[in-house]
Amino acid sequence: MSSLNGKVVLVTGGTRGIGHATCELLSERGSTVWACARNEVALSCDGIHFHTLDVTSPASCESLVDDVVSECGRIDCLVADAGITADALTQRMTDAQFDMVVDVNLKGTFNIVRAVIPYMLNAGYGSIVTVSSVVGEQGNIGQANYAATKSGVIGMTKTWAKEFARKGDNIRVNCVAPGYIMTDMLRTVPDKLLNRFSGQTMLGRLGQPIEVAQAIAFLCSDEASYVTGSVLDVNGGMRL
Ligand code: NDP
Repeated sequence: MSSLNGKVVLVTGGTRGIGHATCELLSERGSTVWACARNEVALSCDGIHFHTLDVTSPASCESLVDDVVSECGRIDCLVADAGITADALTQRMTDAQFDMVVDVNLKGTFNIVRAVIPYMLNAGYGSIVTVSSVVGEQGNIGQANYAATKSGVIGMTKTWAKEFARKGDNIRVNCVAPGYIMTDMLRTVPDKLLNRFSGQTMLGRLGQPIEVAQAIAFLCSDEASYVTGSVLDVNGGMRL
């Protein structure tokens, strides 16, 4: 994927898990990478820039995008990865739990795409990758809030693939839908449940962040030049 060399890429949620693995991979392939999150952590790679971002704030998204464009002149790829969970059975789920997950996963994805897209439309070029989940495709007990946001991300992705291509610009929008991936997000999930998820895959194991990062890198790259509006499952064959 030599086409990633020299690209300017912004990754929300780039400090941990799938987002961080994506930043490392894209940096290795020669991209200038901006990892964004609320809290700065020690990033493992010198070539990755950090910028504070809270995706729930439209002003924070606009300020980040303005800063990156001022410094690099453009944004070629956006990976809208930031996401959280706040699980509970529906009858016990609080308004705060529901709203918090919607604000980050759904509205946050919208906020960052809305901030970036004027620059991509102006350039007539760009690749956006959103991050859904197997849970957005098939639901999951205790995750009505999360499932709603991840189904919504798929709906927005397909809408954006249509909206942003209408002028004949070369702007692609795709989505990855990971299965269960070993990151901080799964830290509170009991081993018994993780073993069950693992047993539901054809490959008989959970995924690693790098395995999702590789799919994201492909969708970002010009090697995916005829791929738009797609949902790429990265789940070890979980839904077969
Ligand atoms: P992690 O919990 O490991 O990392 C989440 C990242 O998002 C962190 O960098 C975090 O940094 C950032 N983040 C959280 N809230 C905000 C916010 N309001 N604004 C900006 N950044 C924020 O998660 P994963 O790597 O596991 O998940 C990444 C994406 O993949 C999510 O969208 C998740 O829903 C999705 N996914 C994950 C799966 C899994 O099994 N792990 C399965 C399917 C989908 P900070 O807290 O400092 O802001």
